[in-house]
Amino acid sequence: MSKDPPVILACDVGGTSIKLGLVRNGRLRARAEIPAEARRGLARALERMVHQGRALCREGGVDSRELGGLGLAFPGLIQPRTERILSTPAGKFDDAKELDVPARVARALGVPTLVCNDANAALAGEWRFGAARGCRSAVMMTLGTGIGTSAIIDGVPLRGEHGQAGCLGGHCTVTLDGRICPCGNVGCAESEASTWALPVQAREHPGFRESRLAREPTLDFATLFRVAARRDALAMELRDRALRVWAGTLVSLIHAYDPAIAVLGGGIMSGGAVILPRLRRYVARHAWTPWGRVKLRPAALGNDAGMLGVAWLLEQRL
Ligand SMILES: [Zn+2]
Repeated sequence: MSKDPPVILACDVGGTSIKLGLVRNGRLRARAEIPAEARRGLARALERMVHQGRALCREGGVDSRELGGLGLAFPGLIQPRTERILSTPAGKFDDAKELDVPARVARALGVPTLVCNDANAALAGEWRFGAARGCRSAVMMTLGTGIGTSAIIDGVPLRGEHGQAGCLGGHCTVTLDGRICPCGNVGCAESEASTWALPVQAREHPGFRESRLAREPTLDFATLFRVAARRDALAMELRDRALRVWAGTLVSLIHAYDPAIAVLGGGIMSGGAVILPRLRRYVARHAWTPWGRVKLRPAALGNDAGMLGVAWLLEQRL
């Protein structure tokens, strides 16, 4: 048996683009990004990932026989052991639940596959190679289109019977009389403070027409923080509410999983210097941690965390 660690083709599937990388030993040797074309389905996307993977092998000087497997980080719930995709983002990759991804990859590339929730992949990456390196127990909250969460306890990535453990922190109720979330629950953190929910909340607010937000072409959190900094009343109200939702979710993750460190990632984090200090203050005040304080750190690996994480998880199985 060769002592060389295998090369993994790591694919991080998002709603608009798919990031691909050849990973060996926790390092990306070659990378590419292709459009997700999510409405055309996952089967078509898989064909393009395989095609791009072969091109990356040629580019990275990797003999395709050195390829040890394909790791797929996907924005949905994944049944552990069977790799079945149990849920997909609304209107995207609708065929995914019917697909036998490992069988398709085995036919195309002759290698094993690991399919993993994208937030779980990101935390695995940050835990082995990034902000949570060296910690036995860690949680992560990813703030973006939705809210992704993940937990590792005593060195073991949490999965549960159906792959739901730890990754539904964004779908815990923060408002009992809140709106119905697409997941079916009431007043989820994600339906109260995420990029997809923000324009709906802003436009429903009676103060919207008087707010500067009404004149902004894009209603995302970067816009919200910028307009709130100019003391627009509605922007400040929505910003402060979102910060409370995220902070409350973080305290719930801390109470549920007892981590030493909480990693904060996602596109929203890069837009708001205000976020981390506010979350730190809230957690210091409200988290019940009589032993001391959970460290709050920004993610260190950016867009690479999911690829490095899913590659590492697959490597453990080979
Ligand atoms: Zn929900």
